[in-house]
Amino acid sequence: MQAEVISIGDEITSGQLLDTNSQWLSTRLADMGIRVLYHTTVGDDLAAQTGVFRQALKRADVVVATGGLGPTADDLTREALAAATGRPLQMREEALQHIRQLFKRRKRQMPKRNESQAFFPAGSRIIHNPNGTAPGIDIQIERDGGECRFFALPGVPAEMREMWKGSVQDALRQQGAGHRIIVHKKISCFGAGESQIEAMLPDITRRGRVPAVGITASQATISLRITAEGDSEEECLASMEPTIKTINDCLGDLVFGQDEDQLQDALLRLLRRRGQTMATAEWGTAGLVTRWLSMAADADRTGKEHFLGGVVSQGKAMPEGLDLPADVLPKDLSDEKAVDELVRQMATACRRRFSADLGLAIGPFPAIAADTKTIDDKPHTVAAALATPQGVLMQRLPLLIHPALREIFCGKNALNFVRLRLLR
Ligand code: ATP
Repeated sequence: MQAEVISIGDEITSGQLLDTNSQWLSTRLADMGIRVLYHTTVGDDLAAQTGVFRQALKRADVVVATGGLGPTADDLTREALAAATGRPLQMREEALQHIRQLFKRRKRQMPKRNESQAFFPAGSRIIHNPNGTAPGIDIQIERDGGECRFFALPGVPAEMREMWKGSVQDALRQQGAGHRIIVHKKISCFGAGESQIEAMLPDITRRGRVPAVGITASQATISLRITAEGDSEEECLASMEPTIKTINDCLGDLVFGQDEDQLQDALLRLLRRRGQTMATAEWGTAGLVTRWLSMAADADRTGKEHFLGGVVSQGKAMPEGLDLPADVLPKDLSDEKAVDELVRQMATACRRRFSADLGLAIGPFPAIAADTKTIDDKPHTVAAALATPQGVLMQRLPLLIHPALREIFCGKNALNFVRLRLLR
């Protein structure tokens, strides 16, 4: 079964509104084992909508459209669907009663225009809308070599979702969908580029492989997304096991987690396993690492026992809150040796201040200059230091990435630096 999702409205084609309905519906359809082959967006224009509906009726087995079911002149879904299917619009008394009741309950006079919402292409089923005046339309159209089921739902996300759950989902199940289950699993990696990671793996991302593996990059994190189809979740998970093992064997420490895991979650897990505590000191990084770790610790039952807190400083003056000697501030922030020495002292002082097992210090980011706009602008590295009971480990974190991603890249590299040290 192949599906098309259609979003309707000038608000979307003009870029004023982000089309979240298509994303939500596509995820639901995929969960039922229905492949979504097309996303179409069309403005408030009768000829354009009619054309789009005709095309969808020909090429998809299931169509779910949202929007354009309101009472105003720019709501054209009903007319366009009637034109595309060749079924004239007919007034349906039960729909009219529902709309009248809704106005009565709200103690408001029903405008004449709302009557248009009680018109449906001949032969269609009304999809009840418990929360609004726009009922949905469910129509089945015969065509050469089969049938197409077309569902038109209101654009308001909350109404659309409720109607999906209350009606569309069951209608598709009765038609035979949803008996196969699709399960996704994500393996997340950090520390190498997309092509490098692909080259380290056997040909698992080839088209048509079962289970399917896709590779994506987002903000320097590389994800391998495995998709399996089966009769039960257990069957899907079992069929993924050999692929997960291959990925782990080939990528080793580059893999830090699964599904929703972020580097900070992986780091907290390691701290818990080792029974250690950690604190941070950041200089000019907008406190990204401290914020990520604090949020992960908040979300985790024992997280706060392992991440004790951090100090964040901005500006070129001496980082505050660590009681550092004044003469340790470098005169020139491009002097890497002098900066390394300061960051080393920040890590030690932070470890002491929080009475933590580990103190991570990062800075200055990127030499506290906001005018680094191209990838070539210096500096190309940021200093990081990890104070441990055995001494201080130093690392230069790379910065060669688009300037808009530098802080995130730097923060993730800092977390990864500690993660790799704790794995040793
Ligand atoms: P109503 O009778 O409530 O107007 P409708 O079917 O006519 O229902 P639209 O007028 O097209 O729906 O959209 C109503 C609102 O729903 C939009 O202003 C927008 O906020 C939201 N909406 C519509 N389509 C989408 C979409 N694809 N993604 C996210 N939100 C949407």
